[in-house]
Amino acid sequence: MTVSSVIIVGAGPAGIGVASLLEQTGIDYVILEKKVIGTSFLKWPKRMEMITPSFPSNAFGQMDLNSICESTSPGFSFKKEHLTGKEYGEYLVSVVDYFNIKGQTNTEVQKVTKQKEGWRLETNQGSFYCKYLIWATGEFQNPKTSNILGSKYSIHSSSIKDCKSLKGDDFIVVGGYESGVQIAYELIENNKKVTVINPDKIDDKYTSDPSKVLSPYTHEKYQKIKSSQAYKEVLGEVTSISEKGSSYELLLADNTIIKTQNKPICATGFSLVIKPLEQLITYRKDGSPKLQEQSDESVSYTHLTLPTIYSV
Ligand SMILES: Cc1cc2nc3c(=O)[nH]c(=O)nc-3n(C[C@H](O)[C@H](O)[C@H](O)COP(=O)(O)OP(=O)(O)OC[C@H]3O[C@@H](n4cnc5c(N)ncnc54)[C@H](O)[C@@H]3O)c2cc1C
Repeated sequence: MTVSSVIIVGAGPAGIGVASLLEQTGIDYVILEKKVIGTSFLKWPKRMEMITPSFPSNAFGQMDLNSICESTSPGFSFKKEHLTGKEYGEYLVSVVDYFNIKGQTNTEVQKVTKQKEGWRLETNQGSFYCKYLIWATGEFQNPKTSNILGSKYSIHSSSIKDCKSLKGDDFIVVGGYESGVQIAYELIENNKKVTVINPDKIDDKYTSDPSKVLSPYTHEKYQKIKSSQAYKEVLGEVTSISEKGSSYELLLADNTIIKTQNKPICATGFSLVIKPLEQLITYRKDGSPKLQEQSDESVSYTHLTLPTIYSV
């Protein structure tokens, strides 16, 4: 069994960011990553870019919005404001090299159990033991459609690698936040018609909270499609999707039925990847893990931390 003080699960920005700090403290740690560094970013469709702009603001004491540790800047390295997933993945690899971060790839954590003084992790590469566990497995690899019955008759937006390859010319997009607006924009650019179904008016939120309101980057795209003949918006909440012969029906909470010839696209976001430690999590009413506000530690176990990074 391999033993270390801290195990970080997941080599994405959250896991590598924490590791870069531990590296500077001398505390022994290891990252366990099921595939390679930055896997989630390498899985992004080619067209997808970072939404927050990168700028090398380090010289005047501010971090690049997309950097995960001091003295690095994706904007400086790539001379670009909006990196693709592949480029951001390369940035993560360069941070790992720069800080000499210790980790083991192709190691999938399959089960976590609480021990008297720490945690035991079962992986496809054997057992590991640690006192402190940092669970940084992100969301991108766990598309959320569970609140819609019959979601198997839809495609999740993250699995569409290229809008051009979608057969059909008239699409329903469920969800009008970042991913929904972006996919609608791309479909219209590819001469397709789009109806976006969203519970609220998309540009009618008076808040500066970026987890609720469209980023300026996506808002610019929204302004372009909003006035297009090819774009339609429906206010409503989709509760179920069913297949009717060669077409599909979406049932809304107010009992409205919307029919479409093509598989609906669910741009309904993501949920945390927590399967291997599901039994250890205390949940909030909205289904997210309940964490201590200052430390991101679980409310039930003080040595279990779930760092989260802004997600779309
Ligand atoms: C199109 C798009 C644009 C975005 N733009 C921005 C932006 O501009 N700015 C921004 O801040 N955020 C943006 N995000 C969100 C950002 O990508 C995520 O918030 C970020 O990736 C979360 O980082 P993470 O380290 O928590 O998770 P991830 O990057 O998903 O990393 C988790 C890692 O854990 C590994 N893993 C999972 N399960 C296991 C297991 N059982 N054992 C071992 N390893 C495991 C995975 O392989 C993965 O490498 C965007 C997302 C999308 C989809």
